[in-house]
Amino acid sequence: MEPRLPVHIGNAAISSLVRYCRDNQMNQLTLVADQNTYAALGESVEHALGEHEFDVNTIVLTGEEIIADEHYIVQVLLQADEKDRVYIAVGSGTITDITRFVSHRTQAPFISVPTAPSVDGFTSIGAPLVIARLKQTIVTQPPVAVFADVPTLCAAPHRLIASGFGDIVGKFTSIADWRLGNLLWDEPYDAAIAHRARQAAQACASHAGGIGQASEQGIRCLMDGLIESGFCMLDFGNTNPASGAEHHVSHYWEMKLLWENRPAILHGEKVGVACILVARYYDQIRQMSQRQATDRLDHAALPDREQELRRIRAAYGPIAETLIGEQAPFLDMSGHTYDSLKQRIVDSWSHIQEVAAAVPSAEELTSMLKTAGALTDAADLGLSHDEVATAMQMAHYCRNRLTVVKISRMLGIHWQDG
Ligand SMILES: [Zn+2]
Repeated sequence: MEPRLPVHIGNAAISSLVRYCRDNQMNQLTLVADQNTYAALGESVEHALGEHEFDVNTIVLTGEEIIADEHYIVQVLLQADEKDRVYIAVGSGTITDITRFVSHRTQAPFISVPTAPSVDGFTSIGAPLVIARLKQTIVTQPPVAVFADVPTLCAAPHRLIASGFGDIVGKFTSIADWRLGNLLWDEPYDAAIAHRARQAAQACASHAGGIGQASEQGIRCLMDGLIESGFCMLDFGNTNPASGAEHHVSHYWEMKLLWENRPAILHGEKVGVACILVARYYDQIRQMSQRQATDRLDHAALPDREQELRRIRAAYGPIAETLIGEQAPFLDMSGHTYDSLKQRIVDSWSHIQEVAAAVPSAEELTSMLKTAGALTDAADLGLSHDEVATAMQMAHYCRNRLTVVKISRMLGIHWQDG
């Protein structure tokens, strides 16, 4: 397990940050923010550090929509100077990811100062970047410390708060998918980490009202949950504890919007809506007996490889060939392997039922998200019925994982059912 990096979530985050920098002789700093996060908190951080005689180079990124892409990465590099400085990212996910990448590649540490409880990736090692309009996650570094100012988090635009709630609610399906992958596809799994991630999601679910009102208690709980989810990924060494079918659906939509030059949708907004859709599969599985599952699997034919390749190429365009390579364990399955997988599903049915029982119903998730002020319908995100249907059928090809989507397909369950 990685040693825990210090995380301060409270009402005196700036003074704690100043103390931390002083105690660690971090005297030269580069502060990265955008215009909104500079106004919300960056200016106060800059001022407090200046008062204590720190040497601060401030970079405020400008533009309609800040993206973690080559343009903004170069902006930070251009405005950085030749001194050895510790980076401070004051912002939500995007500013943090730009800073995470630049600091890592210039061999400098960085401190995360989140301005909104919008994602669980603040402590992540990976930086999701958009390069040549393709999204890729680059291995970089986690921050050396996190300082989150609760009044600033509470005052964040509600869409960002609701997005953080969507990301944390997504753990209900991601943990279930992770366990299924372990039961049926031998994916590595850690029950203690899964338990921690689930507790974090559960705690936020029971504070949905407070989160919807942006109360101090609600927002603290959300930020604690997001940080804990981030630690689950760091401790496990990959994103499995926090990313299942709901994230694959979200990634698919994100790629499509990028290719079509459409405005981005917040990560957690997509994840929250996708989580409801994925939960419908679990709703169906909960109602299915082992007998019914066996009958349905008897009728499941091995996917026609050529037809699948055509569908992947149509859905994924420029990255289709890479995905086809990664999907070899599934696409190249022999009839014999497919039959053993079916048998494994039947033999594990009582475990699968336990996993499904721990996932809130699509209806419960909808109500939770609404209470927290989040969107629950793909149409409200500007996504068409076709885009939902394609994502539900094809998004599982984003990653070589055995989630409820692949299993539901074998069981002949459709996302519209129920
Ligand atoms: Zn996420």
